[in-house]
Amino acid sequence: MAKLIDGKAFAAGLRTRIAKAVSEVKAKHNLTPGLAVVLVGDDPASRVYVANKAKQTLEVGMNSWEHKLPADTSEQALLALVKKLNADSSVHGILVQMPLPQHIDAAKVLNALDPAKDVDGFHVVNVGRLSTGQEALTACTPVGCVMLAKNTLGDLTGLNAVVIGRSNIVGKPVAQLLLAENCTVTIAHSKSQDLPAITRRADLVIAAVGRPEMVKGDWLKPGATVIDVGINRIERNGKSLLVGDCDFASCEKVAGAITPVPGGVGPMTIACLLQNTLKAACAIAGFAPPHM
Ligand code: NDP
Repeated sequence: MAKLIDGKAFAAGLRTRIAKAVSEVKAKHNLTPGLAVVLVGDDPASRVYVANKAKQTLEVGMNSWEHKLPADTSEQALLALVKKLNADSSVHGILVQMPLPQHIDAAKVLNALDPAKDVDGFHVVNVGRLSTGQEALTACTPVGCVMLAKNTLGDLTGLNAVVIGRSNIVGKPVAQLLLAENCTVTIAHSKSQDLPAITRRADLVIAAVGRPEMVKGDWLKPGATVIDVGINRIERNGKSLLVGDCDFASCEKVAGAITPVPGGVGPMTIACLLQNTLKAACAIAGFAPPHM
């Protein structure tokens, strides 16, 4: 049976280290990092995410601001708020919660952020820096995936890694991070031929597809490490359940280690957001962040 990769416990440990680093920065530099989260509309899932982000931001000793705007907010009004937050020296990280209402051009809003405060790592400048091997604020979920993989496997050099999914928010950045860790990276997607044959070559599988329980145990090389990014709600036996993109029951019999859903990658995302906020605050102030 595969070892369970406990993302919840790892994220809790990371938040403790971030809280210690925040108190060090406050004491040495008289600086309190601050994160502003902007939510447009009242999507229930987004409201829960934003509330969790605010709670955990305060728990590690940072300042937190929530800007809740109505669903009919104009693009112009949202861009004006982004501009104001860019100019506010007490704000070091800005996160605009996705998805935005249809009438707002999300790419335009993301690229209006000051790249130095882009703690989600979605601004083209940060994406470009990541892909050219420069210091960047990097998307939180991909960073969380690679942290869990390294904590499980140690050095990733030379491993065959297969990323399933090529979205801008997970698949592509996680592939860039694995390349930087010296993996041989294959990116698979909906047009890939014979996906099981591709994943069977992988020492490390990162599944970011959004299809419940798609990856089966017989798609895996025995002993492979599986990081399951998927969060899918399904109905089973009259119950509403959260499942990943991997069929946990069959995968855990073949994999060497696997993340559960929930409790795997999910908790890492906010912890990495807090880490990015601290890094952004230190970079803006001109000093290196404490070791975390
Ligand atoms: P997207 O829908 O943006 O991308 C899905 C990717 O999967 C696409 O590249 C698509 O290929 C590929 N794909 C779809 N079907 C298949 C298939 N049958 N075979 C192979 N590839 C396929 O999703 P996201 O990247 O945003 O999210 C992926 C999953 O991760 C979701 O379940 C989401 O909820 C979860 N997630 C979890 C987070 C967390 O833990 N905090 C954060 C972000 C996402 P193509 O490009 O060809 O269409």
